[in-house]
Formats: sequence, C-alpha cells, structure tokens
Amino acid sequence: MTEPVGLFGGTFDPIHYGHLRTAYELWQSLRLAQVRFLPTGNPPHREASLAPTELRIRMVQAAIAGNDAFVVDDRETRREGLSYSVDTLLDLRRDFPERSLCLLLGMDAFLGMPHWHRWRDIFDLAHVVVAHRPGWKAPFTGPLGEVMVDRGTGSVRELHSAPAGRVYVHAVTQLEISSTELRQLILAGRDLRYLVPDAVRDLIATSGCYAQHAR
Ligand code: ATP
Repeated sequence: MTEPVGLFGGTFDPIHYGHLRTAYELWQSLRLAQVRFLPTGNPPHREASLAPTELRIRMVQAAIAGNDAFVVDDRETRREGLSYSVDTLLDLRRDFPERSLCLLLGMDAFLGMPHWHRWRDIFDLAHVVVAHRPGWKAPFTGPLGEVMVDRGTGSVRELHSAPAGRVYVHAVTQLEISSTELRQLILAGRDLRYLVPDAVRDLIATSGCYAQHAR
C-alpha cells in the first residue's frame, strides 16, 4: 500500500494559519502522500457560510499554492443538499479503493462526532486523526471514550498498514486562531496580517465579503 491520503474538511470561512500549520505538521508527521482540503458545501451542523462558496474555494487555493502536497477537493460544494462526512468518505473511497484515508480533525470537531450522521460508519471508511487544539482534552468517557479504547493507536505505522479504523491523537503547534474571530476582527476594522496568508488577506480585502455583513 502507498502512503495515506489526508482529508481536511472545513468551512474555511476564511482559511487561516491554524488550519495550514495543522495540515502541514500532520502531513509531515504522518508521512501522508497529500492533504486534500475539502471546503464544506452545506454543513449540517452549522449556519451557512458567510463568504460565497466560490470565494472560500479561491481562498483555499491561494493559501495552499506552492505546496504540491496540498490539494483542493471541491466535491462537497458540488453536491446538492446537506454535506454529510460519511457520504463524502464513501465518494472518496470510490476514488481511492485500497488507500489508507486519514480524516484530519481538530479536537473540537472530534468531540462533536457523535452528532454526525452515521458517525460510527466513518471508522470503516477512514482513520481519524485528531489534532490537539488549545483548551480541548481527549475524551475518556461516553461513546468517544469507548472509541478511544477500541480504536486508539499511538502508531503511525498502523495508519499506513490498514486503510481505515484507527484513531490517532497528535499534538500540533497551537495557534489559537479561529475563522469566527477573524471575521470579528474584520468587522472591527482590524488587519488580518500574519493570521492568514497575504494572498487570502488580499482576496478578503478586494471582495469585501466579511465587511459587508457589518451593514
Ligand atoms: P469557526 O470559527 O467558524 O468555527 P474554524 O476556525 O474552527 O471556524 P473550520 O473551517 O470550522 O474553522 O475548521 C476546520 C477544521 O480545522 C476543524 O477540524 C477544526 O477543528 C480545525 N481547526 C480550526 N482552527 C484550528 C486551529 N487554530 N488549530 C488547529 N485546528 C483548527
């Protein structure tokens, strides 16, 4: 089997250095072939995005330009209706039938997993790799506590030797940046310099997308 493919889903509204550094460190540590950034279509668990989908995709493209191992995968935005992760993974499995797939999640996203549609089926389709995020602790109890006992591994090799089924928790450099906070900064007239790549900052400025919501 060749190296695993990392899958990093998000609203990316906008994408920022917290996302990029996390993806980069996981790509290196897990020896992933690539990281596919999957902007959400209509996410079931959150409100509609503020920037138009087209612009969110362009911001991701601009942010990852220059790193051949980072790829935008817009399949969720092309699908009608709600975007369930399990459906996205079923779709990806058709493209990568034998490959190890690693779903990359921040700890906050992982803790929300039991609310996802058919969430237990996800472990048949991919490994789940959880990046520590500031202020969040791994669960010891409840359904995710059980998942950690049954599926938890500390071995990157296991992520390479099986196509799916493991949970791996990995510490990444903690950058306390969130898209919500960035949108608030824009509304307050502040500059996003050094929180997002310059190309993303430029796209936000020329489109005026987040500032419009102040009116
Ligand atoms: P929002 O503030 O609107 O909720 P967000 O910054 O959390 O947005 P998302 O696009 O919702 O961004 O996140 C996509 C993925 O990136 C999730 O798995 C999330 O846990 C992870 N993530 C977001 N911000 C960070 C960060 N600063 N460090 C590490 N992981 C992050």
